[in-house]
Amino acid sequence: MMGRKCCVPGCNSNYDNTDVHVHSFAFPKDDRKCLWIKKINRAGFVPTKHSVVCIKHFSEQFIIHNHRVVKPDGTVLEVKRNRPILTSDAFPSLHANQPNYLSEEPAPKRKAPEERLSEMRKRDDNNFANWNEKDIITSFSTLSDCCRSKIPKELQFIQDQKFVLLYKIDPTSMPKIVFSIKVFDDFTVDIWHGPKKLRSQDYSYMLGKENKCDRWTKLDCLINWISATPELETPLKAQMEHIVSKLKECLLCIKDDLKITTHINFIIEQVYLAMSSHPSYKTDYLLLCAQIYFSYPSAYTFIRNLAILKLPHPLYLKKLAATLRSPSVLDSNSHIYYLKKKCEMLSVDEKLVSVLIDEIHVNASYSYSGGQIIGSAENCNAEATTVQAFMLTSLFSDNKDIVALVPVKNQNNDELLANTTKVLKILKYTGYTVLCLISDNLRLNRKMFEKMAGGSISNFIQNPADQESKLFFLFDTVHLIKSIRNNWLNLTNNDQTIYFPNTEDNTKTRP
Ligand SMILES: [Zn+2]
Repeated sequence: MMGRKCCVPGCNSNYDNTDVHVHSFAFPKDDRKCLWIKKINRAGFVPTKHSVVCIKHFSEQFIIHNHRVVKPDGTVLEVKRNRPILTSDAFPSLHANQPNYLSEEPAPKRKAPEERLSEMRKRDDNNFANWNEKDIITSFSTLSDCCRSKIPKELQFIQDQKFVLLYKIDPTSMPKIVFSIKVFDDFTVDIWHGPKKLRSQDYSYMLGKENKCDRWTKLDCLINWISATPELETPLKAQMEHIVSKLKECLLCIKDDLKITTHINFIIEQVYLAMSSHPSYKTDYLLLCAQIYFSYPSAYTFIRNLAILKLPHPLYLKKLAATLRSPSVLDSNSHIYYLKKKCEMLSVDEKLVSVLIDEIHVNASYSYSGGQIIGSAENCNAEATTVQAFMLTSLFSDNKDIVALVPVKNQNNDELLANTTKVLKILKYTGYTVLCLISDNLRLNRKMFEKMAGGSISNFIQNPADQESKLFFLFDTVHLIKSIRNNWLNLTNNDQTIYFPNTEDNTKTRP
């Protein structure tokens, strides 16, 4: 309160004879009133509601000059008050015009909790700002210059124009690098654990998305992290891949030596197979295995049981073979495709073929294999008793192939003719040139040839599948040659020589 006369003895604040007006405070209405009266030390004084004590008698710690608001972030907003107020524990203690013993400066008061908190925060913020500033690696040259002093002593350190390299060597046996951290001049980082380069996503949680080591603490973290990472065992699969890649490199160096490359390719195949729990065999390898298995089943099983080589299970080979074996390959597109592909690989001479027509007698039975019921005759609704086989042999090489196997029962010559014509068409389509048809001298075959030739049998006809080429008939060359040989051995002339009739003069013979 302004202007009221101070009740403290000897104080003349706000008295009529002064121009200086000071703030003053009314007596508290609660228990503190007694304390105030006692402190004022005025004999027999009973304060009225108008009695005041001026501000001079209050220690500064009891006077509140400002409005204070503590904001949620801990900072304090202060605005000066129009007139000061007293703290709730204030009492008059300073009496300038009285004996000194009456004056006392109260013990310094603890600051309000929010104020202390705020100060602590401010202090922390400052400390953090200072630390933060020192933590940032401002330039590559700073990194390069200060790195040695910042990293643990046991790390080696290489400085370069473009990077700094920190690495740890394990000298226990053959010295090896345990890990290395390379920080480039743009602060990006490469890390190796032994010989293995780590993926940046393994440590991006320390370096951030940019993968930059631009703070000393980041470098610290990296070093601590990689030091604590146990040496990674290279997984078996990766080691095998490594071996295979080395073998492939060898292959490149010796590609001219077919013998060795074949061997190494086989080893590579075996390594791959050894690695995988569900091996996938290459076609060439499967064919090789099938060839061995179907030729020497017990040898195959023996070798397989040795478990030295990874070989497909015989059941697997059988299943494959069963799916390849169609009841009638005459209608099998895949077989025609096979013939066509095979023919493309043959030389022109080898494409010149004979077709052997033969019957194979089979036990009449049905069986289920490869998802199909086999054993049914194609020409009637019964079990087949015979398989009509059409095979080709190249005239100038030992190339042989089955063109068609047709299960039949009591086949007549029309059916045989139809099948033969079909075979000739297939061979024409797949690229072969058929020069002759060979069969044994069965009545069925002879009849078929007669039909083909238009009634009576002749040496050759136009190929029904190819009007431009002739088709010769031969009846079982093997039998013919056997007959000739037998006749020859049975000859009774002196030098056992076959004489052909003289073509110019039938009455003479010549050797
Ligand atoms: Zn006063």
